[in-house]
Amino acid sequence: MANHPAAGAGQLASVLARYDVHEPEAGGARVAALEAWAERLRGVFAAGTVAERAERADALLIDADCRPRLVRHGEGMPFHLHYAPVRAGLTARVMALTAGGLAHVIDGGGGSRLRTCQRGGCGTAFLDTSRNGRRRFCSLRCANQVNVTNHRNRRRAAAARESDHDARAIPTTPAGPHAR
Ligand SMILES: [Zn+2]
Ligand SMILES: [Zn+2]
Repeated sequence: MANHPAAGAGQLASVLARYDVHEPEAGGARVAALEAWAERLRGVFAAGTVAERAERADALLIDADCRPRLVRHGEGMPFHLHYAPVRAGLTARVMALTAGGLAHVIDGGGGSRLRTCQRGGCGTAFLDTSRNGRRRFCSLRCANQVNVTNHRNRRRAAAARESDHDARAIPTTPAGPHAR
């Protein structure tokens, strides 16, 4: 959601269904409300420090009225957390669920791993699950693209230095005072 705030109703429903959200089909007004919310989710990833991310996520918990409950959908079914009652409606449930999700990540020490991709023009929000926690890019594709660009820039800079050097070397050598 944080990466596709303007997703249409169909796309949004399929994303929510993938995360086991009950009755994920949204109408127009709900989609608009969730679009604004998705921008705020994104703001947590984009914040510069862990403290700022925690502050923003905490504000989301309050605004989403996130109150987790342990429920099950029938005898013998597994207990699981609901962050808002099923009858609360999709917008309220998704707000509570996503605020709760971000809060869990930060609670688990993952606040420093909430990032946005550093490749210019990408900016995808992601959770760095690598071992050393130093990933700067959302994907191998973005990392490779930046590596290729950097490599080209270095070669171009080296070539420019080389031709600059040649340009100076050519006239000075024969015109030196001891040339003859
Ligand atoms: Zn449930
Ligand atoms: Zn990226």
